[in-house]
Amino acid sequence: MTFVKLYKTGQKQEKAMPDIAIVGSVALDSVKTPFGERNDVLGGAATYASFAASFFAKPGIIAVVGEDFPEAHLELLRKRGIDLRGLEKEGRTFRWQGSYEYDMNEAKTLKTELNSFENFNPKVPEEYKKAGYVFLANINPELQMKVLEQIKKPKLAMLDTMNLWISTKKQKLLEAIKKVDLLLLNDSEARQLFETPNLVKAAMQALKLGPKHVIIKKGEHGALYFTEQNHFSAPSYPLETIKDPTGCGDSFAGALIGYLAKTNDNSEKNIRKAIIYGSTIASFNAEDFSLERMKRLNMEEIEKRYSEFERIREF
Ligand code: AMP
Repeated sequence: MTFVKLYKTGQKQEKAMPDIAIVGSVALDSVKTPFGERNDVLGGAATYASFAASFFAKPGIIAVVGEDFPEAHLELLRKRGIDLRGLEKEGRTFRWQGSYEYDMNEAKTLKTELNSFENFNPKVPEEYKKAGYVFLANINPELQMKVLEQIKKPKLAMLDTMNLWISTKKQKLLEAIKKVDLLLLNDSEARQLFETPNLVKAAMQALKLGPKHVIIKKGEHGALYFTEQNHFSAPSYPLETIKDPTGCGDSFAGALIGYLAKTNDNSEKNIRKAIIYGSTIASFNAEDFSLERMKRLNMEEIEKRYSEFERIREF
């Protein structure tokens, strides 16, 4: 197993430690929506999340890609300042194939090839071990646990998952959830995991497991945030152009934890703001395929849409 070089020969070696350690898939996706089709494009939960987080703080990825993974994708991540010291290279890259109907809230998974993730044993680089923030993005919950165990006392650990892991690794997933501060799920996953159609009941059950914060994403209908005392409902942005919602959940999560890391404030009030930054970046992500829209995104556009979100909520 080899590690991906952080910088090309001749470039300065980056020493700074990342603010956020992110484990999750780095993938080649094939996606079909009513607005087009793309094959073997850059995707993966850790990819979307770290790119979104990089608007606010410095993320470091823990994952594995194959020998077939294009160098241009690595270069794109490096240019965003994303730490790749935890990215290994072996075998063939994880691949996901999915499609969406006009109701783009839910992807239909056509194929998942774990490939090099099948036997992946994550080794967290020394430089990541003191990261204040950890995001256990979508991947096998056993790998999520292995990563969390190697990080020293993070200020906040957040976990996301998806239906495949709920159906195949439910017990391991529940164990991992007990160890994190913030649980993120989408509405159908919350219903599946807690075996109830009622999202409030699902959130209450999740809080009983241990996390102090639970966020349920409702795709184009916004997000719900629950603590033991309060709840908050975040709107979604009424987008005119939606081409591909792949990665919206991960971009939401990445921007959210990026904002928390930047502000170093995990209060409920600040988490509400972070949710709106998450919704802002996720709304941009849906405007184009793969990471195309985030690649063209700047802070000015982000702040402008964040303000529009504030106006939407005024009454
Ligand atoms: P989402 O934010 O939920 O739209 O996540 C989409 C991304 O998740 C895609 O880029 C896929 O590569 C990745 N993905 C799909 N299935 C899995 C899985 N079972 N484990 C990890 N990542 C996955």
